[in-house]
Amino acid sequence: MQTIERDRKSVWHPYSAPESSPLFEVVQTEGVHLTLASGKKLVDGMSSWWAAIHGYRNAHIEEAVTKQLQAMPHIMFGGLTHEPAVALCERLIDWSPGNLSRVFLSDSGSVAVEVAIKTALQYWMARGEPLRQKLLTLLGGYHGDTFATMAVCDPVNGMHDFFRGNLQEHFFAERPTCRYDERFEEQHISHFSTLLGEHQRSIAAVILEPIVQGAGGMWFYSPQFLARIRELCSEIGVPLILDEIATGFGRTGRLFGANHADVEPDIMCLGKALTGGTLSLAATLVSEEICETIGSGQPGILAHGPTFMGNPLACAAAGASLDLMESTPWRERVIAIEDQLRRELEPCRELPGVSDVRTLGAIGVVELDDPVDMGIIQPAFVEEGVWIRPFGKLVYLMPPFIISPAELSRLTAAIHSVLSRHHCGRSH
Ligand SMILES: *Cc1c(COP(=O)(O)O)cnc(C)c1O
Repeated sequence: MQTIERDRKSVWHPYSAPESSPLFEVVQTEGVHLTLASGKKLVDGMSSWWAAIHGYRNAHIEEAVTKQLQAMPHIMFGGLTHEPAVALCERLIDWSPGNLSRVFLSDSGSVAVEVAIKTALQYWMARGEPLRQKLLTLLGGYHGDTFATMAVCDPVNGMHDFFRGNLQEHFFAERPTCRYDERFEEQHISHFSTLLGEHQRSIAAVILEPIVQGAGGMWFYSPQFLARIRELCSEIGVPLILDEIATGFGRTGRLFGANHADVEPDIMCLGKALTGGTLSLAATLVSEEICETIGSGQPGILAHGPTFMGNPLACAAAGASLDLMESTPWRERVIAIEDQLRRELEPCRELPGVSDVRTLGAIGVVELDDPVDMGIIQPAFVEEGVWIRPFGKLVYLMPPFIISPAELSRLTAAIHSVLSRHHCGRSH
């Protein structure tokens, strides 16, 4: 039996019905290309969900992972340590904005956010304010799929109604309406500021994605909005958690989203591109003050410890990916991608059914009036020789930074061509 037929009988895919369609078997990746079992080669527009920033099978990462595989692919992290983990944590502390001074390694972004939330709760317990258990976040956010993280995802996208009773209830401020390059006015932040003021005695932390709201709507907002949030949190002493899992490692044109606004988080989450898309790894970075408070309070430990914490293979991959951030002109590449995306996606604005076109860094978004019909649009993109995976009303690109102008043009041309032919709406 063919792989796809066998898959349909026994495998779940993300956010899919038990037997979901359409489905393609991929057998190899290299550079910016995916090779399907049919032999067809696709130009990758997704970087495997923000992750493969240096493209696939980068030689430097492959070499580091191979070397580590032969020395020690995995070892428990309780009571033991190793150079790949220590070196990585040191570098992350070095690179991250502000005073972050300790790193908790985990195996996925959702867990990194869980650890961030737990850290904030433990911080207040240690300070003798155990009733501070609420989080304040923004509508339109995405922070993961586990229960604690789902509870701070946008209530609609995060399907809160469906899971009501099993989710913590938190505070949601209006989604930032002020676009990245629009003039910020104090009124843009008034709802957030009101909620923070009214509930400050019960709020453990503010959590949000800096500058770019990712899976919750691919929305780019004003750096000043973020800067004001930092000020408001500092004024009343509420820790700010920045979820940089999507924005981290150059995607927005700066190393971290926080850099656009020159803000320093108290807790920061990293994942996705951390290993250059090679292995699953995530990190939660915490400020000196929060660490010390937790350490000197009760129970005096951070209560978390995944089995595959600090996996040496993943740490080696991450170290190699950071080397590449140092040795390659990723900034120039992202700026060039941004310019080209802006130019080449602009004509989509004129297409029927398109409500917005926006670009920031190496992210290009075409937003439609109605959700796409995946049964039609996914095979249409594959037919065009590109791997683009829309969700809902959003058709978007976030290619590997190493993509060439010609390959990027294939992606943008495919979007224009497929959207013109299929009119995007469900009715077509
Ligand atoms: C993807 C993502 C997560 C969750 O990471 P997983 O590795 O999928 O668990 C959390 N926050 C943001 C901003 C993300 O983009």
